[in-house]
Amino acid sequence: MTPRPVLTISGLNVDYGTGSGAVRALRDVDLTLHRGEVLGLAGESGSGKSTLAYAVTRLLSPPGVITGGDVHYHPYDKGPVDLLGLTPQQLRAFRWQELSIVFQGAMNSLNPVHTVHSQLTDVLKAHRPQMRSAERTARAEELLSLVGISTDRLVAYPHQLSGGMRQRVMIAMALALEPEIVIMDEPTTALDVVMQRQILRQLVRLREELGFSVVFITHDISLLIEFSDRIAIMYGGRIVEEAGAAEIYRDPRHPYSDGLLHSFPALHGPRRELTGIPGSPPHLSAMPAGCAFHPRCGKAFEPCSGQVPALAPVPAGTAGGPARSVACWLHHPAPDAAPGAGEAAADAASAHPV
Ligand code: ADP
Ligand code: MG
Repeated sequence: MTPRPVLTISGLNVDYGTGSGAVRALRDVDLTLHRGEVLGLAGESGSGKSTLAYAVTRLLSPPGVITGGDVHYHPYDKGPVDLLGLTPQQLRAFRWQELSIVFQGAMNSLNPVHTVHSQLTDVLKAHRPQMRSAERTARAEELLSLVGISTDRLVAYPHQLSGGMRQRVMIAMALALEPEIVIMDEPTTALDVVMQRQILRQLVRLREELGFSVVFITHDISLLIEFSDRIAIMYGGRIVEEAGAAEIYRDPRHPYSDGLLHSFPALHGPRRELTGIPGSPPHLSAMPAGCAFHPRCGKAFEPCSGQVPALAPVPAGTAGGPARSVACWLHHPAPDAAPGAGEAAADAASAHPV
């Protein structure tokens, strides 16, 4: 069965600043989140992951501007909703209810002078005014249990909880109204590895129970390999590879994906040598021509410095395996490698993965 999309992003461009001082932080981003899946988004710091999360949720603030593209939400029982066209009032109803987001360091955004109970019930009060007080308390208890916190912590103030518990309270809050989509932007980086995995395992279990879809953003790809269904890799504001988590792990096609896999210790499976990636990510104001990764790429050849390779489908490793895409001249006909190859490259460039 073809998976149904719940969120589709196409041709998304975001700039910081306007006029001659503008720098482009997102370039032609195409990405689809399917119903019920955990989609991991990985990339070094500065690759544009948070910009994507902010743009999609319409939380981008100046100097960030969306300069092109479309973002659509596909509700279960209604036609698609154009997220970039929503009014502020429509957005307020949409956030928390249909889509919620947990940011890095979100645990510090709990209000220190209010108990967990009052913060959880406030979300319900704002969006479910018809709910009675006792019902709200019951729901708050249920939410805490969902994220593995004992209900007697409901009366606690944030400072009485550990960092891991505070972060779980934020996740409980994000799930309070049973949204269809939960976006988590580096929600666990401040926590130790054991705690990160515990929280993620719980999230994946909840996803199975409640049926929402997750975009999980992190610079640590080893977490994604373990917990996500599909992974998209970002570099210099573009998606450079997108494939099933197992496919990325077994057979990364983009040299950057391969480099990322060798930058973090694998949690399971055979040990990999940690070689990292030489050099550092480019500045937005000095993006290399062609493939932005080519100055750091050990496999770069002629076309790489001249033309940007489009994210285009490549055959899956196994027959009948899930579709995958990569933006790399190693895997697409190079523009002037052979007579007629330019046409094939143009075809590859115009093909959009679904
Ligand atoms: P990531 O989340 O992958 O670390 P970000 O989306 O935060 O990346 O940043 C992408 C790029 O946009 C970076 O080069 C960053 O410096 C730039 N950027 C982010 N926020 C702003 C801002 N408010 N003004 C100017 N540039 C910004
Ligand atoms: Mg970020």
